[in-house]
Amino acid sequence: MILKDIHLGNFRNYDSLDLQFHPKLNVFIGRNAQGKTNLLESIYFLALAKSHRTSRDKELIQFDKEEAYVNGNIETSYSRLPLSISVSKKGKRAKVNHMEVSKLSQYIGHLNTVLFAPEDLNIVKGSPQVRRKFINMECGQISKVYLSTLSDYQKVLNQKSQYLKSRNVDRVMIDVLNEQLAKHASVIIYKRQHFIETIEKFARKIHEDISNSKESLTIKYNPNIKYKSTNEKELEQEIKAILDDSLEKEIDRMQTMIGPHRDDISFHINGFDVQTYGSQGQQRTTALSVKLAELDLIYDEVGEYPVLLLDDVLSELDETRQSHLLTSIRDRVQTFVTTTSISDINHAIMNDMSSFNIDSGK
Ligand code: ATP
Ligand code: MG
Repeated sequence: MILKDIHLGNFRNYDSLDLQFHPKLNVFIGRNAQGKTNLLESIYFLALAKSHRTSRDKELIQFDKEEAYVNGNIETSYSRLPLSISVSKKGKRAKVNHMEVSKLSQYIGHLNTVLFAPEDLNIVKGSPQVRRKFINMECGQISKVYLSTLSDYQKVLNQKSQYLKSRNVDRVMIDVLNEQLAKHASVIIYKRQHFIETIEKFARKIHEDISNSKESLTIKYNPNIKYKSTNEKELEQEIKAILDDSLEKEIDRMQTMIGPHRDDISFHINGFDVQTYGSQGQQRTTALSVKLAELDLIYDEVGEYPVLLLDDVLSELDETRQSHLLTSIRDRVQTFVTTTSISDINHAIMNDMSSFNIDSGK
């Protein structure tokens, strides 16, 4: 999938902007606060009808203006499609092929993107909560069953928490809830395990490419419940037994103590834990590889690669890693990358790309 061109009107610090893009690699160069991230944000907005950095759409509208819009043409292997999205005080309007759609769900999904922003480093460096959110989002994208099971699990878990906090714990009720929790947990754990194996396969390859085969990445699933079962039904029973065993402790502490809501994953390079022992560049490469694995997941799902948006990734990668990243990726995936200096870009790559100098929204 390729984004051929884009037209912005009153979007952030851009009054009006028309750009034609390179099918492989596009580099946005500029000093701080000139509008590089804004431009990536506009592509993200064109794809998903929302921003990656704010939930308040009105921030996208240029100061003192009424409406912001982004138009663009996308090309897939079988079609060419104009997309258009605008936001004003009255809300959002979206058009596919010049026809206004009544629901945004009819709009989203035509242009697929994967974005890597500086915050994504937290997948490696941040808390288990950040990693669970990442897994939930990724698994949710490929499995509707996962999403609904997760939401059911959360509801039952909240109920159980309420019961545990009450003075006279109703053990019969808790037993019923534990049964439901075990059922949902076994689905969640199974899907997570499968997902992590898939993402490891893709991320491992990408990491190997970027590190010039010097590093071997593995991803480990660390489920909070240490289970032995090898099928989902057995797992359900095993979890139920474990939950029953911990009931006294849970009543004592008045909180739920075990289950997939406390799962985590860890990343390892050549055997060592990246969060604890990795250098900045290794942590960034790991986060990048894990996030870029999404490209392959989407490809498997949709049959086309999405477009890739890379914000501020070059600064912490050495020249070898940068050029391996850009050369390995751009032949498969149209890539948009921001940088503060053109010297960040390797000469060999420069022959086959477009660069755009960004200065105060121009
Ligand atoms: P850095 O290298 O620091 O990341 P950048 O080039 O990515 O910089 P952006 O975040 O794209 O910078 O742009 C920031 C600029 O956009 C700031 O000057 C900010 O004032 C301006 N800006 C943000 N929102 C709006 C808006 N709604 N209207 C006008 N200008 C805006
Ligand atoms: Mg920026």
